[in-house]
Amino acid sequence: MKSLSFPSARLYIHDLLVGNGLTGAQAIQQGAREFGVFEDGGNPEEIESVGIPERDLTDCCECCQAAYKVLQQFFSKRSSTTRALDMETAWKSFRNRLNYYRAGMSSGKVRPLNCQLACSNLAPVIFDLLLQEVHRYS
Ligand SMILES: [Zn+2]
Repeated sequence: MKSLSFPSARLYIHDLLVGNGLTGAQAIQQGAREFGVFEDGGNPEEIESVGIPERDLTDCCECCQAAYKVLQQFFSKRSSTTRALDMETAWKSFRNRLNYYRAGMSSGKVRPLNCQLACSNLAPVIFDLLLQEVHRYS
């Protein structure tokens, strides 16, 4: 399956969840730093959202919100004039692929699933998909 591109990343997140007792959102943030998503080491408090509009993420679970913040932070450091568009494209791609993955896990039908229910225990997958989006722009 193509979405299994970063098995070591999945294991790393799994270890953070099981071994270190982090929440999915915390593990995703730490994983992003460990896997070099942020050139400067990444301080989640320093998200410069200039040119990258905040989205309404109330439908998203904590893990997807963390993934959004990582993407936002990643793109905010880039000088590209298309970074706001790139951010939007990467986020949509991430959400689409996650929907397909979740649908495959359940009935096989692609339909909008409630993030809060569908994403529990999916932090390693979410992180994998997130890395794939980041690598497209790296
Ligand atoms: Zn989610």
